[in-house]
Amino acid sequence: MNHEHSGFNSKLVHGTGAKDPMGSVITPIYQTSTFAFQNADHGAACFAGESDGYIYTRIGNPTIRDLEKTVALLEKGYDGIGCSSGMGAVTTVYMAYLGSGKHILSHNAVYGPSRAIIEGTFSKFGVESTYVDTTDLEQVRAAIRPNTALIYLESPANPTIGISDIPAICRLAHQHNIPVCVDNTFCSPYLQNPLELGADIVLHSLTKFLNGHADIVGGIIVTKDAAEYKKIRSMMVITGCNMDPHQAFLTRRGLKTLAIRIDRAQENAMKVARFLETHPKVAWIMYPGLPSHPQYELGNKLMKGPGAMMSFGLKGGLESGKKLMDHVQLCVLAVSLGGIETLIQHPASMTHSKLSAAAKKEGGISDELVRLSVGIEEAEDIIADLEQALATV
Ligand SMILES: *Cc1c(COP(=O)(O)O)cnc(C)c1O
Repeated sequence: MNHEHSGFNSKLVHGTGAKDPMGSVITPIYQTSTFAFQNADHGAACFAGESDGYIYTRIGNPTIRDLEKTVALLEKGYDGIGCSSGMGAVTTVYMAYLGSGKHILSHNAVYGPSRAIIEGTFSKFGVESTYVDTTDLEQVRAAIRPNTALIYLESPANPTIGISDIPAICRLAHQHNIPVCVDNTFCSPYLQNPLELGADIVLHSLTKFLNGHADIVGGIIVTKDAAEYKKIRSMMVITGCNMDPHQAFLTRRGLKTLAIRIDRAQENAMKVARFLETHPKVAWIMYPGLPSHPQYELGNKLMKGPGAMMSFGLKGGLESGKKLMDHVQLCVLAVSLGGIETLIQHPASMTHSKLSAAAKKEGGISDELVRLSVGIEEAEDIIADLEQALATV
């Protein structure tokens, strides 16, 4: 059965519906570096792209292909490209679209390394960049240049949880023939489908919600059409940013419960956000599920739910935040997000520490900002833990 028209959970469980030749219910780990050709003509046909036979695991592998095709189905795209990590996916897209004299326009609060690699490395190869607050369409409009080759969005952004108007930005970009890539890690395809909203490319850190169990690092790219797919896949293959079959297997397993995990985490997140919003020691909170979020209406339009990510600031700034992080017992003080356990971290000294002070300021990554990824524990336990830790502040 082809699951193109099945519901989301059926797609998660059954993927494309392709059957394993040995009858294995679960796609096995094809732990091999290379694949035998039937004969010389078959080998030649594989290399010429006239046969979809496998050649070599960096180029393609059945365990990885199953994950790629499943995520492409979930994102309603043409096909997927598995990568070594989320940053492997980001770098592959940058390599495919950028070059000397080309310009990238992006959000000033994207995932720290997604910006740091442009300003620290791609700049050495003549790539120009502008970082603006893409939640403001006018700033995007004003920053487009004749040599802009890629608009790179993250919405909600990391860690400020600002929401960008993806459809409006895509319309603007396409008037200038500029492709748009969206990092959809915070939402996962369960809550948002950027390709449907007009984007050309969507990518994920699989490390987060898609795998969901904090036991692998991986990334994936899905394109809207075949031309972009070919261009990006060949870049992934030649740079060696490929996945590993075991990593793909674990991710495919974690992916099956994506929707039930997010439903649960999101329900918890709403309760935690309401608790924090009224707590006397909390100065502000950003969560797409609260009407106090500045892009609350837009979030409701673009996303099927508010997700499990929030950021907040404590009265008393960084010192108070440190006290909170040092006293949590159930919540884990760790970077990463989207797993079954609740994680708390401090972006200014952790995930975004490589950014300059100016870049942090302009991106709204203030010293007092604490990021919380709400897990699937009992909401009452998460709240009780935050409550006792806040009492020490
Ligand atoms: C974690 C993350 C990345 C990078 O992914 P890795 O798997 O750690 O390389 C990219 N974008 C966002 C939004 C992330 O949270």
